Amino acid sequence: MAKTIKKHNVVVKTEYCKGCSLCIEFCKQNVLETSADLNKMGYNYAEALRSEECNGCMVCVLVCPDLVLEVYNE
Ligand code: SF4
Ligand code: SF4
Repeated sequence: MAKTIKKHNVVVKTEYCKGCSLCIEFCKQNVLETSADLNKMGYNYAEALRSEECNGCMVCVLVCPDLVLEVYNE
């Protein structure tokens, strides 16, 4: 039987991110990085640059103090 590989889509609501980097530090899959650009609040926000590496552990969602991250199963 063929193995089904789940894909996960990591969404960062960048305009609400205060750039604390907690999600970046806690992600073992190295999915997230700090942006070079600033958001409207003047923060370098988190970006999900390697969503394909995400294993859906939800740690980033749990550690974000501002509920900025969402992870969807595809
Ligand atoms: S769900 Fe887990 S693997 Fe995916 S981005 Fe968040 S912390 Fe990283
Ligand atoms: S934990 Fe939340 S507020 Fe902090 S950098 Fe990540 S998305 Fe932004």
